[in-house]
Amino acid sequence: MRTKLVAGNWKMHGSLAANLRLLEALKAAAREFAGARCAVCVPFPYLQQAHAALAGTEIALGAQNVSEHDAGAYTGEVAGAMLRDFGCRYVIVGHSERRTHYAERDAQVAAKFQAAQRAGLIPILCVGETLAERDNAETDAVVGRQLGAVLDAAGVQSLRDAVVAYEPVWAIGTGRTATPTQAQTVHEFLRAAVARQDADIAARLTILYGGSVKPANAAELFAMADVDGGLIGGASLVAEDFASICKAAAGR
Ligand code: PEP
Repeated sequence: MRTKLVAGNWKMHGSLAANLRLLEALKAAAREFAGARCAVCVPFPYLQQAHAALAGTEIALGAQNVSEHDAGAYTGEVAGAMLRDFGCRYVIVGHSERRTHYAERDAQVAAKFQAAQRAGLIPILCVGETLAERDNAETDAVVGRQLGAVLDAAGVQSLRDAVVAYEPVWAIGTGRTATPTQAQTVHEFLRAAVARQDADIAARLTILYGGSVKPANAAELFAMADVDGGLIGGASLVAEDFASICKAAAGR
């Protein structure tokens, strides 16, 4: 039995005042989504604020990126150990916005995944195809390659302490969501790819869906057999919407 996880990706949004309102509202609603795991992945400068605000709650903290290096002369980068210092449990790696805007390639994403685990963080590995790739029937090849890069570099055992997020690029921030069947098909493909190397790890692996998840579509997506929760962008910035998505994951 996999406990569902809902992780909010705030992206480059927030302010001290807005974060305070959002976090306080989430904490106030947390009782209603007990039974699901919940996390917020905030911008680096707000880690301390969120860490303090979430202390003593069941809401976990995460970051949105991590250096592939552990320390050193890498100006502007943030190491996994630093994220741990600020109470992070999760870190997103390989988000499509990083792959697209910052030219992160599979090998670099795999290196970040490994750096996160070296620091004791749980990486949330994002994979997903563009619309052109889907239209060319390349979805399996693309997500298989992105997952395969991590399997090759880190080995299947690394997925014992990791989360995978299927995020079709065409559904991120577009208001266009994959249908539950489209999501399930890809999730099943990903789980089967892991199962070919280790059936037990595959059965336990949390695979999130991300891409315009809203209160109105969360329950039907989370009802699919291989959808273990969501990675939520826009809707994670609205406390009521994010809480409602978490409630759907808790089966309420
Ligand atoms: C995301 O950024 O990971 C995401 C899924 O965004 P949205 O929910 O806004 O589509």
